[in-house]
Amino acid sequence: MNKIEIIPLGGIGEFGMNCMGIRYGDEMIIVDAGMGFPEETPYGVDISIPNFDFLEDYRSDLTALILTHGHEDHIGALSYILRKFNLPVYGSRFTLALAEKRLDEHRMLDSVLLHRVKANDIIEIGSFKIEFIHASHSLIECFSLAITTPLGTLIHTGDYKIDDTPVIGKPYDLKTLAKYGDAGVLALLGDSTNATVEGRTPSEKAVIPAFEEIFSQTEGRIIVASFSSSLHRLQVIFNIAHEFGRKVCVLGRSMQKNVEIAEEQGLLNIPYNTLIGLGESRSLEDDQIVYLVTGSQGETRAALWNMATGTYKGLGIEKGDTVILSARIIPGNEKAISRLIGHLYKHGANIIEEKRRLVHVSGHASQEDIKILTETARPKYLIPIHGEYRMLFRHKEYVKNHIAGYTDENVILIENGDILEFDEFGARIAAHNNLEKSFIDEESLAEIEYDVIRERKKLAYGGAISLVVTIDKKTREIIGEPQISYQGVANINFANGFTNEAGQMIIEAIAAMKKEEIADQKGFQEKLRIHLKRFVQKEIGTKPVIVTTIVEI
Ligand SMILES: [Zn+2]
Repeated sequence: MNKIEIIPLGGIGEFGMNCMGIRYGDEMIIVDAGMGFPEETPYGVDISIPNFDFLEDYRSDLTALILTHGHEDHIGALSYILRKFNLPVYGSRFTLALAEKRLDEHRMLDSVLLHRVKANDIIEIGSFKIEFIHASHSLIECFSLAITTPLGTLIHTGDYKIDDTPVIGKPYDLKTLAKYGDAGVLALLGDSTNATVEGRTPSEKAVIPAFEEIFSQTEGRIIVASFSSSLHRLQVIFNIAHEFGRKVCVLGRSMQKNVEIAEEQGLLNIPYNTLIGLGESRSLEDDQIVYLVTGSQGETRAALWNMATGTYKGLGIEKGDTVILSARIIPGNEKAISRLIGHLYKHGANIIEEKRRLVHVSGHASQEDIKILTETARPKYLIPIHGEYRMLFRHKEYVKNHIAGYTDENVILIENGDILEFDEFGARIAAHNNLEKSFIDEESLAEIEYDVIRERKKLAYGGAISLVVTIDKKTREIIGEPQISYQGVANINFANGFTNEAGQMIIEAIAAMKKEEIADQKGFQEKLRIHLKRFVQKEIGTKPVIVTTIVEI
């Protein structure tokens, strides 16, 4: 008899990079392909992606990529996985619109097959039958998945909260989930991001009173920074701006693009005559304008950072401005946000953060939401996913302590690279693979090997010294002086004669070598590198990267 295997490639024990393989027999679907944001952002890398090479062993099994929703930590690695495995992609209209934007950046739009699905659509892919269940979250058109196999049904929650009064769209579809609960759910893979938070997660509507109060008390310009994908929030801001007689000007590329897509699709309902361009905004009085901007995470390329540190298209922060940061702090961004706030204060802005007023609510299920969902689905097994290990652990503890029937036996903690197996006898972690994540180069957007990161780290710590030696092809003798140059190396300067002494040392080292040693170019190059390395260590006590070049003429 066939078994089900759950193979997480990312998103377990970390924030972001959500990606999971689900295999039945010799068929495998992938749920989400997200990017991650390494907490240390070293050496031109601030994006990581799952190790898709691992899927090479399953190449002939792969049948489809299913997207739960359009957040970057769920679709950001799309082009990288599709370049290796050209799978048909399934997702909601809005999710696919965001996905198309990504694919377009990588010029892959024409080569990928996108299937648009709606809530309660049921698709059959080989032995898998998948129903898309409407889920409420900070984004819109999100799904939980009911994945039925001949061995039983899995529920993958995606990201969710149980929002009874979302700003856009319907509440979480507990009715459809209950249908599966009644029929019997083998396992539930549940979002753990907010499993450490007590109570219910507030509705997206919960921010309205704070915004209304701020708008009613503010005479100056209002600048709201939010995630460009938080459509509920954007809708709230448009509505309240209209209510208080302000126009909205949208700044920042991703914000403008998302507003455009959402309005086109009829998802965002912008009150008549409320959206204006930057030019028009300049002619308005301070109490007539709201700027809706990108940059809530202190990103230095975003609109808010540029406004705070100088100007964005001639627009800067001024005394009397009120800046509302309507977003959560993504782990790792604390320092960048703190610097941003410093710049805003310097220019005389009044700043309103989540800490002071309810201007942001989370999109993820808190403990009581988890309880509602789990009791509705009543899975035989519960597998906490999406979150750092401490969140997965607390998810497990909460469910064990607050919902009858859950114990260490049927709440299973997994890690990236595990293979969790289900068959008629039960569930077990059958194997574990070590998955090194891949990194993306900020400039070229190309995937880079871990070795390159290691090299960049060495360069950052020690700098580099370059040695060029010119050799006569016939006589195997050195021509001229060895050329030594350096960059970013401590304890070397023009005055201290390092390059002369090092050059002299190299001349002596070559003089002591046999002709055959010099003829072997690779060996010769390596020997010179080692000579120079030892010399540098002895003389100046550092370990720069040393590059030697042999020129034969
Ligand atoms: Zn999400």
